[in-house]
Amino acid sequence: MQGWRDILKKSIIKIEDLPDRFGPSEEGSARAASVYPMRVNQYYLGLIQKKGDPLWLQAVPSVEELQDEICYPDPLNEENLSPVPNLIHKYPDRVLFLVSSQCAIYCRFCTRKRKVGTSRMLITPETIAAGINYIRSNPEIRDVLISGGDPLLLDDDHLASILLRLRSIPSVEIIRIGTRVPCTLPMRITLRLAKLLKKFHPLYINTHFNHPAEITPQAAQACVRLAEAGIPLSCQTVLLRGVNDNPNIMRTLMHGLLRIRVRPYYLFQADMTRGTNHFRTPIETGRDIMRSLIGHTSGLAIPTYALDAPGGGGKIPILPNYIVSEGDQLVFTNYQGKTCFYDCVKTR
Ligand SMILES: *Cc1c(COP(=O)(O)O)cnc(C)c1O
Ligand code: SF4
Repeated sequence: MQGWRDILKKSIIKIEDLPDRFGPSEEGSARAASVYPMRVNQYYLGLIQKKGDPLWLQAVPSVEELQDEICYPDPLNEENLSPVPNLIHKYPDRVLFLVSSQCAIYCRFCTRKRKVGTSRMLITPETIAAGINYIRSNPEIRDVLISGGDPLLLDDDHLASILLRLRSIPSVEIIRIGTRVPCTLPMRITLRLAKLLKKFHPLYINTHFNHPAEITPQAAQACVRLAEAGIPLSCQTVLLRGVNDNPNIMRTLMHGLLRIRVRPYYLFQADMTRGTNHFRTPIETGRDIMRSLIGHTSGLAIPTYALDAPGGGGKIPILPNYIVSEGDQLVFTNYQGKTCFYDCVKTR
C-alpha cells in the first residue's frame, strides 16, 4: 500500500505532465501554472473523469486565472489584520492561525492564492512560536482555528507539538482544524493521526468538499475514522461556477456529507480573490440554492450561506427573503411559496 507521502510526491505540478487521456492542454494554462502553483496529487487526479469536469476545474490551472482584472490579491485584508505573521485576528474571541503553506492540491479558487504553495508564504518554527505567544498573551482568544495551507500536511510530530503548545494555554477553550485533506488526500487520515488528534479535545475539524464526486469510499473512511475519534466534523463548501452552482448538485453534496458524518457548516459565496473571478456566481444563484434546500430537506443538511466581507468585515449570512411585510402582523411565504401570517406580540 502506498503511503500518503508517496502519493503526494508523485503529484503533477506541470501542465505537460497531465496524462494523455485528457487530450491536448489548453492555451495559456502552463503560464497560469507558473504564476499560481499547480499540484494535482495522484488520488485526486484519479477522480477527474475528463477535461473541464467539476474536479478538473478545481485543480487544473486555466488561462482565465491570468485574465482577472476585477478582484484583489488579498480581498479579506488578512495581511493588515495580522498582528504577527500568519495569524489573523479579526474577531475578538478567535483567531485564524496559519501553520502550513502546503496543500494536497492547489485549488484554483483558493482565497489565499496570493501565497499558498509559494515562497511568499513563509512559515517557520519562529512564526509558529510567535503565533502561540500571541495567543497566550491575549486571553480573550478562546477559539483557535488552525489553517494554512493545510495543517494536516504537517507530519504527525510537528502537528502534535503545535497542538500541545496550544492546549497548554488555559484561555484556549476549543481548537478547530481547517483541512481539505479528508477530501483531497484521505489516506492522510491514518489511524495513528486519529489517535493523536483525540488527545486534544475539544477539537473540531472543518473540512471542505465541493462536489458529490469527491465523496468516495476513501473519503468516507477518513471522515468516519475522525468521527470515531470523537471529532465533530463540519464542512465549508465554496459556491463555484461550473462546479456546484446548481440546486441538484448541492443537495446531493449535502446529503452525501451527512452520510459520511459531516455536518454542512458554511456555503461561501466566492471571495473576490485575484485570479478567481471566473468562478464567481451571482448572489441570486446562492439564494436560489438555499431556497431549494430550506424546508425541502433536513435542517441538518443546510449550511449557512455567507459572504466574507471584502476588507475584513467578517462573515455575513445571506438568506433568501421569506418576509413579505412586517408590522402588527408578520407576513411571509413558506418554503412552498404559500403565504403565512404571524400576529406579533403587543408590547404595550
Ligand atoms: C472565518 C474566520 C473565522 C471563523 O469564523 P466562524 O464564523 O467562527 O467559523 C475566524 N477568523 C477569521 C479571520 C476568519 O476568516
Ligand atoms: S486546500 Fe484550502 S488552502 Fe489549500 S489551496 Fe485549497 S482552498 Fe486553498
